[in-house]
Amino acid sequence: MQAPSAFSSDIHLIQRLNCLGNYTEARAKSENLLSKIPADELFLRNKLLNEFEISSGRAVLESKPRQLVAALSSGCTYNCIMCECRNEPPWNMPESTIREIISLFPYLECVVWLSGETLAYPGLKELIAEGSRHKNLQQVITTNGLLMDDGWSKLITDNKVAVSFSVDAVTDKTSSRIRPDIDFETVKKNIRRFAEFPADRRFELSMVVMRSNVPEMSAYVDLAADLGAGLARFIPIQGNVCPEEVIFFPLDESIVGPVKEQLAAARKRARARGIDLENRLPVRETDEVITHEPAGMPCHMPWKKMCALTRELTVPDWFCHPMIHTLRSGEHGIMDAWNSDEWVKLRSTIASGRFAEGCSSRCKESILWASYLKPI
Ligand code: SF4
Ligand code: SF4
Repeated sequence: MQAPSAFSSDIHLIQRLNCLGNYTEARAKSENLLSKIPADELFLRNKLLNEFEISSGRAVLESKPRQLVAALSSGCTYNCIMCECRNEPPWNMPESTIREIISLFPYLECVVWLSGETLAYPGLKELIAEGSRHKNLQQVITTNGLLMDDGWSKLITDNKVAVSFSVDAVTDKTSSRIRPDIDFETVKKNIRRFAEFPADRRFELSMVVMRSNVPEMSAYVDLAADLGAGLARFIPIQGNVCPEEVIFFPLDESIVGPVKEQLAAARKRARARGIDLENRLPVRETDEVITHEPAGMPCHMPWKKMCALTRELTVPDWFCHPMIHTLRSGEHGIMDAWNSDEWVKLRSTIASGRFAEGCSSRCKESILWASYLKPI
């Protein structure tokens, strides 16, 4: 009998074929391999079935999501200016959905825990412990860093959980404008201490880019490197909670030049400091026109990833538009949403080789790097 590692390399090849749009060969290979993988290899079977369903352009899926982003609660006592939690009535993910997520652990490659403030979520330690029993599952926590004491640092690094610190400023002045209740010095001290714990992988710093912090983007790379991060990421402000900070949706043309300058400088700083930089903004770093057409379907996200962002919203990826309203408080679960009319319709459109009507301009204009929409 073939060892699971041998299946893994075959599946990797099938993934590459799908990414290249060679669906006929991917389908034939995955169909053949499916008959060989033992039934108890839940993770590998789901991964392969998922690739088979991509190659077949299926809209209703038997396979389960491979990546999950789960917002656990709106619980947070802070008052950041751009935070959409502030406008929502308080909510917690229903217990039944939490149990459903745990039942998906054997199939998942990655789960990202979000919350109002994730470290304040009462059941987080139990979820981490349960998740760490699954060797294929990478857990990720996003946090503002204020509660990251030695106890959390040890628990997180012992369980090989990846961390993304949400830090939106370099200077005290900008930090106190954006996150008025959060002591920036304590956050930086906590991150430095966290960095001293032995870990398999380096953590990341993530900035929600908005009008106030555009001038600090390039210096942000130095802050990330100084704190010990391996990656600095820029993501755009969304929603309209703080209209004076909104610059991307809709795009304020006057900000494009300054953002590009900052991105160019940030890229240089990242090279010099030896850390990675990830730009998820809807602004290209260069004026280079991308002419290539993606081979096959433009995107595989709706087959692979589910973001359960609030109790009412699920989307394949952070910036998919429109948001798909399917998850109800305990009434529907993750898998109901996964094969809901909205998701099936989205997959059907994309399987026909087109972006869906509501797909983001960020995707349609190839602003993201090609492999983002079809990750391996
Ligand atoms: S810490 Fe996070 S959840 Fe809390 S208000 Fe700020 S952005 Fe929102
Ligand atoms: S908005 Fe982008 S990521 Fe979402 S389904 Fe459309 S192409 Fe895929």
